[in-house]
Amino acid sequence: ACDHLAELLKGFGLAAATPLSNWIDGALVAGEGEEITLINSATGEALVSYCDAGTALIERATQAATRGQREWMALTASERGRRMNAAIRGLEGHEEALAQLESVVAGKPIRDCRAEVGKVREMFEYYAGWCDKQHGEVIPVPTSHLNYVRHVPYGVVGQITPWNAPMFTCAWQLAPAIAAGNGVVLKPSELTPFSSVVIAQLLECSGKFGQGLPKGLINIVNGLGKSTGAALTDHPTISKLVFVGSPQSGRMIAEAGARRLVPSVLELGGKSANIVFADAKLDEAVAGAQAAIFAAAGQSCVAGSRLLIERSVFEQVTSRLARAAEQIAVGLPSDEATRMGPLQNRRQFEQVTRMIEAAEAAGARVLTGGKRPEGLPDEAHGYFIAPTVLVEVTPDMEIAQQEVFGPVLIAMAFNDEAEAIQLANETRFGLAGAVWSQDVARAHRVAGQLRAGTVWINSYKAISVMSPFGGFGDSGFGRSSGLDGLREYTVPQSVWVET
Ligand code: NAD
Repeated sequence: ACDHLAELLKGFGLAAATPLSNWIDGALVAGEGEEITLINSATGEALVSYCDAGTALIERATQAATRGQREWMALTASERGRRMNAAIRGLEGHEEALAQLESVVAGKPIRDCRAEVGKVREMFEYYAGWCDKQHGEVIPVPTSHLNYVRHVPYGVVGQITPWNAPMFTCAWQLAPAIAAGNGVVLKPSELTPFSSVVIAQLLECSGKFGQGLPKGLINIVNGLGKSTGAALTDHPTISKLVFVGSPQSGRMIAEAGARRLVPSVLELGGKSANIVFADAKLDEAVAGAQAAIFAAAGQSCVAGSRLLIERSVFEQVTSRLARAAEQIAVGLPSDEATRMGPLQNRRQFEQVTRMIEAAEAAGARVLTGGKRPEGLPDEAHGYFIAPTVLVEVTPDMEIAQQEVFGPVLIAMAFNDEAEAIQLANETRFGLAGAVWSQDVARAHRVAGQLRAGTVWINSYKAISVMSPFGGFGDSGFGRSSGLDGLREYTVPQSVWVET
C-alpha cells in the first residue's frame, strides 16, 4: 500500500521527500511544522509522513483567498457559474486515482470511495447552477425609498472538516462557498489530508475546459487542529467559520468565533434513532437498519445507532439483524468485495472497543460482534471490529447516550408510540432519525415529533445536496446543502435609495 500511495501521490504531483500537502495560491506547498505520520488503517503500518502547515501558511492562504475572491467577484454571476462548471471537468479522467488515494489514506472500501467521487461532481454541478440565481428582493417600505436586499458574500470563509468522508465534506462546503462568491481556506482532518488538496488542484487547473477558477480562490491547508486549525479560526481575515466534526471540537470552534464575533455553522455528531413499528415491512426495515449503522463501519454522522423496536417484534427483528450483520463482507479497503473496512484510526478503534466493554460491564449483552471479525486476510492487523449488535441496553447507559462512531448498534424495545418518541428524543443529539411503519398517519405523526434535522420514513440515509441538512442540540446549528446551505455563505444587505 505504501508504494501504491507513493505512486498515486506522484501521479497528482504531490510526491517529494515529504509530500506537498497544501494547495495555496494555485500551487502545491510543503508544510513547515511538526511531522505527522499517517497509519494504514487496515494493516496498522506507517503510510507516509507530511509536515503540519502552521501559522505562516495560514497567513499566505488567507492573503491568496482575499485576492482570489476579489477576482472572482469581479466576474458576472453567470460567468462564475460557467467557470464552476468548467472547473468540474478538471476531475475528468482522475476519478479512479482519486478514489484509490482516498481508499488507502482513509481506510475506506474502494467502492465507497468511488461513490464519494461521484458526489463531489454532483455538488459542484448543483451549486454552479445557483451562481446566477441568487436574486435579492424589493421590500415595499412605508416611506418614499426604494429598498432592496442583496445577498453578499462574507469574503473569506474558513472551513474545517473531519476524516470520515473527506472528499464529500470538502465538496459539500467548497461548492456553496464559492457559488456564493467567497474565497476559501479549508483545513481537512490531519488524518486524511491529500484528497482535498487534489480536488482543489484539479478544479483550479481546469482552465483548458474554458476559463477556470481564479488562482487562490480555494486554498487547502493541512495540519493539526491545535496548531493549523486554531490559526485558521483565529485569523482576522476569516469572517465565517464552517465546521464539520465532533461536538467537543465544535464547541472550541464556536468559542474561537465568538471571541472575534464571527458566526459559525456546526455540523456535529449524532445518536440517531431508527424506530421500527410492528406493522412495518420487516424485511425492508431490517435491511434499512443494517445499512443505517454498518455502512462506513458506523463512521457516519447520521448512522442509525439506536434501533427502537416495538416489543412484539423485538426478538424477530434483532435476531434477523444479527444474522444480517454476520453476512457483511468485512475486509481490506482495496478488495472490491469488501463492504465494511476497518475503523479509520487507533483512537477511534480504542474508543469503540472501550465503549463496547463499558456497555457490557453496565449490563448490556452482545448479540453478535463485539470483537475482531474472523477470517480476515493475514496482513489485516489494523483497526477492525465486527458488526456489533447490543441488547439489554437501558437509556441511562453511556452506549445509549454517546456517539460511538463505529459499527455498533444498540437495540431497545418500546411498548407504544408515545414511548418510542420519548426514547428517540432522550438524547442531547438531534441529527437524524427514521420511522418504519405502514400506517401513513402514524409515520408522519411520529416523524413530526422527532427532534432531528433529518427524518426518514420507511427509508434511511437518503441524502441530497438539494435538501437542507443539519442538527438540533449537540448535533450543531446552521444548515448545509440546498438553498439554506448556500445562504449560510451570504449576508443580506439592505440598500435604501431616496426616490
Ligand atoms: P474532530 O472534531 O476530532 O476533528 C474535526 C476537525 O477539527 C479536524 O480537522 C481537526 O483537526 C479539527 N480540530 C480539532 N480541534 C480543533 C481546534 N481546536 N481548532 C480548530 N480545528 C480543530 O472530529 P473527527 O474525529 O475528525 O470526526 C468525527 C466527528 O465528526 C464525529 O463526531 C462525527 O459525527 C462528526 N461528523 C459530523 C458530520 C455532520 O455533517 N454533522 C459529518 C461527518 C462527521
